[in-house]
Amino acid sequence: MESRWSDEEAQGYIERYRERCNADVALRVYSSRLIGGDSTLVLHGGGNTSVKTTVKDDLGRDTEVLCVKGSGWDLGDIEPEGLPAVRLEPLRALRHLESLSDEEMVNAQRTRLLDASAPNPSVETLLHAFLPHRFIDHSHADAILSLVDQPNAEQICQERYGDRLAIVPYIMPGFALAKLAAEVYEAHEGCEGLLLLQHGLFTFGDSAEESYERHIRAVAEAEEYCGRRRYWSKRESLPPISPVPYTELAPVLRGLLGEGERTYVLEQRNSLEVLEFCDDEELTTLSQEGCATPDHVIRTKRLPLVLPVGEERGDALKALVADALAKYRDEYRGYVSRQMAAKGIVVKELDPDPRIVLVPKLGLIAIGGTPKAASIAADIYEHTVSVIRNAEAVERYQALPESDLFDMEYWSLEQAKLGKKKPRALEGKVVYITGAASGIGAATARRFAGEGASVFLADRDEEALGELAAELSCGYAVADLTDPEAVQRSIDKVVRRHGGIDGVVSNAGIAPQGPIDEVETEVLEQSFRINFFAHQWVASAATMVMKAQGTGGFLLFNASKAAFNPGAGFGPYALPKAALIALMKQYALELGSHGIRSSAVNADRIRTGLLDQGDVAERARKRGLEPDEYYKSNLLSREVTADDVAAAFLDLALAKSTTGAVLTVDGGNIAASPR
Ligand SMILES: [Zn+2]
Repeated sequence: MESRWSDEEAQGYIERYRERCNADVALRVYSSRLIGGDSTLVLHGGGNTSVKTTVKDDLGRDTEVLCVKGSGWDLGDIEPEGLPAVRLEPLRALRHLESLSDEEMVNAQRTRLLDASAPNPSVETLLHAFLPHRFIDHSHADAILSLVDQPNAEQICQERYGDRLAIVPYIMPGFALAKLAAEVYEAHEGCEGLLLLQHGLFTFGDSAEESYERHIRAVAEAEEYCGRRRYWSKRESLPPISPVPYTELAPVLRGLLGEGERTYVLEQRNSLEVLEFCDDEELTTLSQEGCATPDHVIRTKRLPLVLPVGEERGDALKALVADALAKYRDEYRGYVSRQMAAKGIVVKELDPDPRIVLVPKLGLIAIGGTPKAASIAADIYEHTVSVIRNAEAVERYQALPESDLFDMEYWSLEQAKLGKKKPRALEGKVVYITGAASGIGAATARRFAGEGASVFLADRDEEALGELAAELSCGYAVADLTDPEAVQRSIDKVVRRHGGIDGVVSNAGIAPQGPIDEVETEVLEQSFRINFFAHQWVASAATMVMKAQGTGGFLLFNASKAAFNPGAGFGPYALPKAALIALMKQYALELGSHGIRSSAVNADRIRTGLLDQGDVAERARKRGLEPDEYYKSNLLSREVTADDVAAAFLDLALAKSTTGAVLTVDGGNIAASPR
């Protein structure tokens, strides 16, 4: 760990934020970002920082305030607005109280804010307020955790830091910890910071630089201390590979997780360090200690599930995973009822599913309601692995007892960090969309993503696909769907990214033309390959995954008005589209018993790249219309858009009791209505 402080950059922050805040706050933003930008110091909203400074209140009077990290902000990209100002004197006055409940504390902090619309000040605000220093930095640095998560932590820390850092025994964040930390400081006046056992590090100073440099120095020394004692060798090569591929295990696991509408996405991590950990002989003891710092419990749960998979495949694999999960859930429920009984309280039990699964030879699988949640859990556990390894190198890793982690997991102020928004209709669902780079496919991708789906896009057009994937922060595969192997590879890619598939919008198509009696076989074959076979290959590969999950799913095909109402010269297009309707019905018929629905959308006259503008003008002219009128020549005299078609796909995706259906989106055309 090296200091990243630069006087020049610090000065740049003061200048850049001159209009928005004073120099103290600008420097607070700068060094908070230095800390937040290093994942070995803090992860995903963890840690907090503060500065005591003077600002004008609404009457123009100089007012002493504490600017402290607000909830919902991440140190890595914090802005002055993420450091709400709280009146300092009335905050400090709270120290004289005997006790203060969590609700009273939140209220006390909010009522002392200068700006009523500011975010809630951190749950550790009072700790910052009760200490006298101007700048205070708090992190959960990996290397520090390796020292404070020890049965012998006090002695180890004393040896390492002497009087420079004072030691605070574990108490949950809140009023009591704030008072205790202030008392410990007062008994060790002159120290540079506090080591909070089984929690993390606080440092302080007169300037942003002093507090930051003390922080980095303490962490660097902890790293050095762990490094010297490191006994785990770095292997040259990977451990042996699992006989069960991840793409086979993931859908089985995913299907067994959750309940009803509650589904998850998965994310695998298999760095060398993670694989070594998962292969360690002591995995079952090392991994069953608990979280490295209590903050993590809401993201990873207290314990991961260890899932050793041997040669099992198919039903045997499913039975093995189901058993392991059932055992995990029983143990989780046991822990909750044990703790409720011990504390004489009643809580609303959270879901009993694991968030981290450790599979020897495969690595860790993180579980979340959204890809972001899974990714946060994965990041946290990767760092936990490193904390545990280093702690074991020092002496022995020891986490907090379950009683303390339970308090943290069920603490309303922690749960509030996860947000209480009602999940969107497709949250936790994975939807694979073909022909997604433009037109109807792109509109569908945006609409499904807007409903919370984890979309995965496939198309041939790499550039447009990459742009849309960046816009939606989603995965994609450049694939030629006329090649069945390329289809399979892209489906595998979805499974590797999210753990499975819940729905498909099979949309890609082309519109070749030609008189049916003269058309070249090659043209017809090519049309069948993309307008019929590609749909079959996508549906077949995707439903294999859906069947392994056992949680149903949907297949939605982009058919065409031409399937029912062919136009002269459009045979090469209409024939495979008619066959596609038959394919859709066949899937509805044969996979209904698996809960897999299959339906189609028939759209007509959409401005997409399917027909070139010359063709459109020609078709319009034949009907005695201008191109714009051509698009509106339907019963509603309304131009149908790609977004209307996307909305129809979404309706079918959500229509739980509909399968084998054709939904027309054409503004009304009786001649083309399905019979
Ligand atoms: Zn903390």
